[in-house]
Amino acid sequence: MKYQLKLAHLYPEQMNIYGDRGNIITLAQRCAWREIELTVVPIGVGDTPDWSTYDLAFFGGGQDSGQALIAEDFLRRQGEPLARAIEDGLAMLAICGGYQLLGHYFLTHTGERLPGVGVLDVHTVGGKQRLIGNIVIECDSELGIGAAATAHGRQSPVRLVGFENHSGRTYHGPRVRPLGRVLVGHGDNGEDGVGGGVYRNTIGCYLHGSLLPKNPQLADHLLLLALRRRYGSAVTLSPLEDLLELRAQRTMVERLM
Ligand code: GLN
Repeated sequence: MKYQLKLAHLYPEQMNIYGDRGNIITLAQRCAWREIELTVVPIGVGDTPDWSTYDLAFFGGGQDSGQALIAEDFLRRQGEPLARAIEDGLAMLAICGGYQLLGHYFLTHTGERLPGVGVLDVHTVGGKQRLIGNIVIECDSELGIGAAATAHGRQSPVRLVGFENHSGRTYHGPRVRPLGRVLVGHGDNGEDGVGGGVYRNTIGCYLHGSLLPKNPQLADHLLLLALRRRYGSAVTLSPLEDLLELRAQRTMVERLM
């Protein structure tokens, strides 16, 4: 069977920093290598997509000013239907500013309060000092990230590498589980060692970089979640030759630790 997937790219004009678009390129390329047909639909201000037709969503990071431009539209137009899709198992990746807006609110360091959709049980408070630098997160192995074997075997627990730059400190409530623990860098708030949040098939975190080109296990994890939701739990992904990607990932982890 030839698989087809549809991905919503939220506000690509306003919410795209530190190479976040590379995440889309990676998903598209990994699909193309496997002859999975991926349609990418940009969702901008004023759009009202039918979320029930989507398998994947990506929401990148942005400056506080970029976030402020789209926050109201996001809440008003996407809020409820997107939250329903997430409850229904939409596979979603949200980075930094996107992650913040899926939570309850983002209080910026200048005191502006941007309400979020609240589908992730997190809230974010801006601090004066930005949290900047390379970051390594060791994924919670129970999440199954890296379980889809690559041609070079499984790696568990997967250590994700990325670059973070945020003023927001994100704090978790009980209805979100950590993506992993921070081995290097600041993570969600620089205090409790939590790196990223997971709710159903939605993952939020602060890893730019781009994230998915550097961490192919996470890219495949998202693709598998999306495929299984649409085509059933028996779907598997054919392994790809990820020799260079995994070597680069390992090298970065070794260098930073
Ligand atoms: N503006 C937000 C913050 O500084 C998000 C930054 C980002 O997406 N890199 O916390």
